[in-house]
This record gives sequence, C-alpha cells and structure tokens, in this order.
Amino acid sequence: MAQLAESVVRLIEALSKLPGIGRKSAERLAYHILRVHRTEALALADAIRNVRENVRYCSDCYNLSEGDRCVICSDPQRDPSLLCVVEQPRDLMALEQAGVYRGLYHVLLGRIAPLDGIGPDQLTIEPLIERVRNGQFQEIIMATNPTVEGDGTALHLSNLLAEFSVEVTRLARGVTPGSILEYTNKDVLADALAGRQKW
Ligand SMILES: [Zn+2]
Repeated sequence: MAQLAESVVRLIEALSKLPGIGRKSAERLAYHILRVHRTEALALADAIRNVRENVRYCSDCYNLSEGDRCVICSDPQRDPSLLCVVEQPRDLMALEQAGVYRGLYHVLLGRIAPLDGIGPDQLTIEPLIERVRNGQFQEIIMATNPTVEGDGTALHLSNLLAEFSVEVTRLARGVTPGSILEYTNKDVLADALAGRQKW
C-alpha cells in the first residue's frame, strides 16, 4: 500500500481492528469516509471522541452513563424493589427495547468464563452483593444469557444471594438456549421476562 497516503493507511489499519471488520471492509469504509461530506465524516470522529471522553460506568449499576449515575438509576419512576442482572450494557438495552421492565438493573460486565480466564473477581459481583445487602430489593431477576457460561454465572450468583431474603428468579426459557439476549426478538424477550420462574 506504498502508493496510498499515509493517513489513509492509518485509517484502514484502525478500522480493520474493529470486530467483524476485515481488511476489505476496512478499505471500503475508509473510501466511504473519504467520499462523504466533510461534516458527516467529522461528525463520526466527534461521536467516537465524545463517547470515549464522556461515557463511563454508572456508579450504581455499571450501565453506560454520561454522569455519575445512569438515566435508569436516576429515574424515580423505576421500581426499586426489582433488580435485573445482565451481562453487558447491550443486554440491558435489549431488555429496555422490549419495553416491559420497570425495575433497576445490575450489569456484571461479563460472565464467569474459566476457559477464558475470567473469574468472579473480574465482574461487578461484589458491588452487586453490596447493593442487595443495602437495597430494598424483593426480587432479583437473572437475565444472563442462556449459554453454559451465562447459566453458570447465574448459578454462582444465586448461591451468593441465598443468604438474603430476596426472591431469585430467571428469565423463562422462551429465549432459545445458546442465543444471545441482544439478538433476541423483543417480543420473545418480553415473554421471557413476563414468564420468569423461581430459581
Ligand atoms: Zn445505573
């Protein structure tokens, strides 16, 4: 690629590091960015800078947030007796899009995955236990993904939560085993939530 301007080469290299973007796609994206209107291209650059400079994890639930506490934790209309535990912010987003849940969330920022070297200590489990200890939750809904690792994580959590007088439930199996929450149809998610079962 000696014949390409160095900044174009750098852009292609940066884009090809994105998940699911191979060399060819990175080149296509780079040429697209060079072709579109300058303001559109710079808006993309600004959006990336903005998200990295202003977005952090909510100090209560570990959802993505622009302030100390996220919009859900700051919303007085949410039911503080319900807590839904998810693996990632994108799972939370999928459940929010289903539009049937009015409680609070806790984002683990991963799942226990011994084969990948991810143990309980690398997740936000300790803050979760603290929240349950100090909160007024009546029900904890396990909404980890229905995968071996997601189920294992939920089982680990339910053992830890056994000492508290809260009901632990999990999503109904409308969510196909092995499927990933973020890709599940929102009606199926709404059904899984409505039909949640006791652990
Ligand atoms: Zn929050």
